[in-house]
Amino acid sequence: MKRIGILAVQGAFFEHKVMLKELGAEVIEIRQKNHLENIELDGIILPGGESTVIGKLLRELDMFNPLKQLIDDGLPVFGTCAGLILLAKESINEDESYLASMDISIKRNAYGRQLDSFQVIHEFKDIGEIPMIFIRAPYIISTGNEVEILAIVDDNIVAAKQNNMLVTSFHPELSKDLNVHKYFLNMI
Ligand code: GLN
Repeated sequence: MKRIGILAVQGAFFEHKVMLKELGAEVIEIRQKNHLENIELDGIILPGGESTVIGKLLRELDMFNPLKQLIDDGLPVFGTCAGLILLAKESINEDESYLASMDISIKRNAYGRQLDSFQVIHEFKDIGEIPMIFIRAPYIISTGNEVEILAIVDDNIVAAKQNNMLVTSFHPELSKDLNVHKYFLNMI
């Protein structure tokens, strides 16, 4: 059985938990530094929420460096929305980057206010058409050589993979479609 941690310091982690359990994984909420240090994980999810808040809490709770270390050492990680922002090397409309482990440049709150949240059905590489729910979402502006692009919606990159890292601008956990979580578990 695969044991997946979900970073649970802020944001929408409950739905991820439900999906992963449905797929037969063991799920552990990661709330403090010693969880990262003492629990052997096969993968970790960085959920949606507010990236500035999650980034700040990671530092306050002294979890930032251990988390980055695990990811840079190859722990499979799936970042959705704010999780994508946390993993990105660069954000074009923010001064700050966070874990900076993935070679992508992103734009935060990229869809602006008018289009705060929306849903489309769209192609995801190797999966097919799936529902994609966007909530104050970022998108990916450019990717490094090692990054595989998995979905493009309206000319914007909304899903990508680099080695052990998977990111989506949208929230698969808010739909009923388990495919992206299954894809992540297959990366492990
Ligand atoms: N707008 C949020 C941020 O900048 C992300 C939104 C989300 O995770 N649903 O962090």
